[in-house]
Amino acid sequence: MKVFKFGGASVKNADAIRNLSKIVANNNDQKVIVISALDKTTNHLESVFNHYLAGNNLMWSEFQSIKDFHFKIIDDLFEGNSDEAKTLVSVIFNQLEEKLKVASSGHYEYEYDQIISFGELFSTRIVSLFLNYLNVQNVWVDIRTVLKTDDNYKSAELDEELSKLHVGVKFNFNGVSNYITQGFIASTSFGTTTTFGREGSDYTASILGSLLNAESVTIWKDVPGVLNADPKLFQNTIVLPKIPYREAVELAYSGAKVIHPKTIKPLHNSNIPLFVKSFVDPSLPGTIISHEDTFIDSPVIIVKENQVLLSILPKDISFVIDDRLIEIISILEKYKIKSNIIQSSAVNFTVCVDSSYRLEELINEFSSHYKVLYNDNLTLFTIRHYDEQTISRELQGKTILLEQRTRSTARFVLK
Ligand code: ADP
Ligand code: ASP
Ligand code: MG
Repeated sequence: MKVFKFGGASVKNADAIRNLSKIVANNNDQKVIVISALDKTTNHLESVFNHYLAGNNLMWSEFQSIKDFHFKIIDDLFEGNSDEAKTLVSVIFNQLEEKLKVASSGHYEYEYDQIISFGELFSTRIVSLFLNYLNVQNVWVDIRTVLKTDDNYKSAELDEELSKLHVGVKFNFNGVSNYITQGFIASTSFGTTTTFGREGSDYTASILGSLLNAESVTIWKDVPGVLNADPKLFQNTIVLPKIPYREAVELAYSGAKVIHPKTIKPLHNSNIPLFVKSFVDPSLPGTIISHEDTFIDSPVIIVKENQVLLSILPKDISFVIDDRLIEIISILEKYKIKSNIIQSSAVNFTVCVDSSYRLEELINEFSSHYKVLYNDNLTLFTIRHYDEQTISRELQGKTILLEQRTRSTARFVLK
């Protein structure tokens, strides 16, 4: 069996869903098909969530526009026969509506997951019903009954043992060729909804691939594969046909949005190839990520926005590395702040981190023992397999706040 994963762009409107259905129908393998929320629904749900937390009635207009968007797509897909689909999808919208009527518990991460998780429930229901409508046999699975996690809401950790017990039972392929299920969401052992963090559907696909020992996992994208730079930012990009797992992790972790960074490890450990293919032109070969030790010899550029450069200086001028390193790292860890570059000197620890809603809290905590300096709205610019020509071409005229080079990677924090 194989695992397919379709992201938000591949289900952004009725035409996209028709295209997805064609890809599914034209493939005769047994498949588990993981799907994200339609288009930017998760962003819109975040907006509902923010209004909900603030006790602001604007959440209802946002709720209604999400519902209208989904129902318009249902009308388009099912033409004159949309009543049944609307009734079934309404059941899920009603669940969200009931949730929004109850005041927030004040637990930010818990409430976030309870609301944000609805996008994938809506989208998978619609796609599954549409495949039925086209006579493409499939079974819809609520992944929360399969993938079990801890209660670290917004960034849940998989309980592999527990999930393994469920996965083979739910996806047993007895008389079934296609399962449709949600990316990104899961649940605790008590059944409370959790999520793996934004963009986490790629990770769901790889977990399922690994737990089910799939032949391969394919993530279907709006690009022809993994390229040597983001085509939305750079011209004349080229496809990297083969990438070793280790290189793929480096690219993803540096910010190549095309793959979620957590996707690679489960596949690497189970030796399952990951294909990145174009849903626009499925006949293209795409990229294969596997154990094969392919040498990448030309530069690959990765741009990551929303970076913050923090400098943390012990007020008593203790040596950072000798005396304060563990404390600093554990405070960053406590706020779940992702460190992208670390550089230190005697009494200065500088770290480039992803911007976070908890940044202010973090700075406050550091401020009791440390002097803290920071710049936000920065860009992390990474060049893997760099050469001097690429560095000078790309960084011309840019203000560099921090620079770090290893044998294979040059990284710059830019203003
Ligand atoms: P999904 O719909 O599955 O969530 P994403 O939008 O997260 O897909 O990922 C696809 C996008 O990743 C592309 O549209 C492209 O703009 C971006 N991207 C960034 N870096 C790369 C890269 N190196 N190769 C291909 N695409 C990239
Ligand atoms: N829908 C979720 C998000 O937008 C998960 C995903 O698409 O991977 O982050
Ligand atoms: Mg994505």
